[in-house]
Amino acid sequence: MTPASQTPTTQQWQHEASRDLMNLGGRLALLVRGEGSHVWDADGTRYLDFLGGIAVNALGHAHPVFVDAVSRQAARLAHVSNYFATPPQLELAARLKRLAGAGEHGHVFFANSGSEANETAIKLARLHGRRTGATTIVSLNGAFHGRTMGSLSLTPKPAYQDPFRPLLPDVVHIDPTLDALEQVIDDTVAALVVEPIQGEAGVVPLPDGFLRRARELTREHGALLIVDEVQTGVGRTGEWFAFQREGIVPDAMSLAKGIAAGFPLGALVTFGDNDLFYPGTHNSTFGGNPLATAVGNAVLAEIEDSGLLANVAARGAQLRQAVAGLPLVTGTRGAGLLIGITLAAPVAAAVRDAAQRRGLIVNAPTDEVIRIAPAYTIGDAEVDEFTALFAAALAEVAASDPNARVATGDGTETP
Ligand SMILES: *Cc1c(COP(=O)(O)O)cnc(C)c1O
Repeated sequence: MTPASQTPTTQQWQHEASRDLMNLGGRLALLVRGEGSHVWDADGTRYLDFLGGIAVNALGHAHPVFVDAVSRQAARLAHVSNYFATPPQLELAARLKRLAGAGEHGHVFFANSGSEANETAIKLARLHGRRTGATTIVSLNGAFHGRTMGSLSLTPKPAYQDPFRPLLPDVVHIDPTLDALEQVIDDTVAALVVEPIQGEAGVVPLPDGFLRRARELTREHGALLIVDEVQTGVGRTGEWFAFQREGIVPDAMSLAKGIAAGFPLGALVTFGDNDLFYPGTHNSTFGGNPLATAVGNAVLAEIEDSGLLANVAARGAQLRQAVAGLPLVTGTRGAGLLIGITLAAPVAAAVRDAAQRRGLIVNAPTDEVIRIAPAYTIGDAEVDEFTALFAAALAEVAASDPNARVATGDGTETP
């Protein structure tokens, strides 16, 4: 191994990575430090980070609020297991219920990741189905709900699913259209699981009225409406939760990614009387530990106290305007600071690489879409730096032979 004091060459760290880590793609650079919206690699090269750890680093890197919460809680009480309650856990549960409007009877389960939050949602669907006789779980084509066997079963992408069959039975995938929705929701459906905006699919919003109609139909047929807000939640879209934009109330919501701004934490929030769990049916050793939940409290308090939701909305609008008209750009999708920039050719991977060579981190969830998910704290300086670097990367790719730079679409971009 390379001693920490020495700077490993690219060849060295890539050799170590392929020797010691499972080969699952990624590893675009060896990053060693971060501050605000910038990260540095082992050679001292500075990058503007507009991926934010895949929509995780809501406060950027090394934010004093984050550092202080981790340090103080680590020194006080880090972990006690689910045999005990702790003040940070109780505080975060109450805070999430309030922000989500989960109601007096709403409940929170803490997990460690988005996949685990969704596994909990799937088990909730089973508990619900036991009472109604319904077993089917419906998810949407293009969805990403995670990589564990249950959440993978709701993620209908052949490259992800096929090596791992058999998957969960009685899972049905529909196109995200109102017609398909009308057809699929009947009394055999235990739950419909949807992302308000499909991040991994290239930041694709649901069609207008989809969530509202989904709410009506699931209620009519006694099915649960479960929103996966792992990527869209806790302020990413400029609202606390993206479902709130639609004026509906779901039965459950999964969260992770930005909730503790880089500390691993996931959650399932149930609304109204929909918590059907009882002792013995579910739990997690790490889930809801005081360290993770203290960080979650500090992060959400900072978002609230510093008015960051307004900044997310304003900076999102500013960025959308800044990229309109740049070479290769055909449009933007998404909300707040979850933005998909659509390109005129399947060159997203080439644009991502050109951006990285210039010191800008963005991501290419599909061949024709660049996704950005910067920190909620960005200001004019970050927007200007992004615009200059991104414009240069686009110009470089536009000037080169597009056919030689067609993205491979090998699926290495997704978590
Ligand atoms: C990232 C993501 C997940 C999976 O979260 P992990 O923490 O990687 O398990 C699930 N759903 C959505 C919408 C996501 O964006």
